[in-house]
Amino acid sequence: MGGHVFARGRDLPVAVRGQGCEIVDADGRTYLDGSGGAIVVGIGHGVAEIGAAIAAQSADLAYAHGSAFTGTALEEYADRLAGILPVPDARVYPVSGGSEAVETALKMARAYHLARGEDRHIVIGRSGSYHGNTRGALDVGSRDGLRAPYLPWLGQAAHTGTPYEYRCASPVHPQACGQWHATQLESLIEQLGPQRVAAFIAEPVSGAALGACVPPQDYWPAVQEVCARHGVLVVADEVMTGFGRTGTWFASEHFGLVPDLLVAAKGAASGYWPLGLAVASGAVHDTIGEASLTHGFTYSHHHVGAAAGLAVLDYLTEHELVTASAVRGDQLGAALQARLGEHPHVGDIRGLGLLRAVELVVNRDTRTPFPRSERVTERVLAAGKAAGVLIYPGTGCADGTDGDLLVLGPPLVITSEQVERLADLVATAVGEVLPA
Ligand code: PMP
Repeated sequence: MGGHVFARGRDLPVAVRGQGCEIVDADGRTYLDGSGGAIVVGIGHGVAEIGAAIAAQSADLAYAHGSAFTGTALEEYADRLAGILPVPDARVYPVSGGSEAVETALKMARAYHLARGEDRHIVIGRSGSYHGNTRGALDVGSRDGLRAPYLPWLGQAAHTGTPYEYRCASPVHPQACGQWHATQLESLIEQLGPQRVAAFIAEPVSGAALGACVPPQDYWPAVQEVCARHGVLVVADEVMTGFGRTGTWFASEHFGLVPDLLVAAKGAASGYWPLGLAVASGAVHDTIGEASLTHGFTYSHHHVGAAAGLAVLDYLTEHELVTASAVRGDQLGAALQARLGEHPHVGDIRGLGLLRAVELVVNRDTRTPFPRSERVTERVLAAGKAAGVLIYPGTGCADGTDGDLLVLGPPLVITSEQVERLADLVATAVGEVLPA
């Protein structure tokens, strides 16, 4: 190949085909896709129906500007989503990916407050979080390595802590950590001045950055109460956790979280189309009013994207993949525990549904992370790839700089046999880099 693709890495294999949980390269090697790419592919690779739906919509009408037309696929998709989203009376704004969805939701929050005559603009995010790579998304996130080159452009957002059971900062661990975190958030809101705070953004279950961190059950109810009391909108980032990934349609459901705004992407079109969704509650939408969201993208409200999203929704439903995610997820958790639970460098194995993570440490007793300079995650990923399994990196877990996380999020169609093989291959890769 000519090498004119902007550097994504040299000597990459050439992917040619995918089926279910497997990808085949040009040399005929097969990889078990343990991460659906970047936890993207929910329905599996090579589903012909999705291609057919995309082709049919493209042949009918690929594009008509969102300010001039709506479309049948778009309307049907939004209606169907409203039936499964945890957002009351949901209004769906389709975009091209997660970062765009985050930017859109942040603007919706600002527009909502402006429409109510309040100049609220500060968004609170959480430590160790990731919400995308555009400037607004980078600002509300807090991955130091990703932010460092762009710091002069950032600095509008504030950050509070993330519940992270394995390294919990709460002095009342484990009895009342959720409430403690909510109190920390409230202190920050009060310090900033509630009249200046527009929104709080967080993943209901932390994904790539902190690797499948499930908060305590009391966390979201307490956070939602604090935000409501101070007029701060809750934005649930379900880019990674949406569309069945954690064993429910959306991870918010596990905690009874009813967000004002929600963002999704990845699993929405399962990688078959670049699709993201910014969702507002009916109340937020009606307060903003149609005219006052100063925003738009050429490719928002895309007719083919909506057709792809609908076809994926049909596939998830017909094949009962949300339930499958819960069942296979429990199996994967147990299989990882059986292979790696006693490994001297495995500190924690955690997750929900088919979003799982293994945290690697120097020492299990002290929970000391490896310095990033040892590149443990990268070495395990390379060993895994050589052995035929794809794992997603969630580096920088402990304090944003050090730490090693292996994140697993295979397509929800993974079979029972593949779950066992995935755990075997992950254990092999870990053992090769970190002998027990
Ligand atoms: N939010 C979360 C939680 C994510 O995991 C990601 C992608 N990893 C994004 C936002 C950004 O999505 P995208 O890469 O599609 O812009």
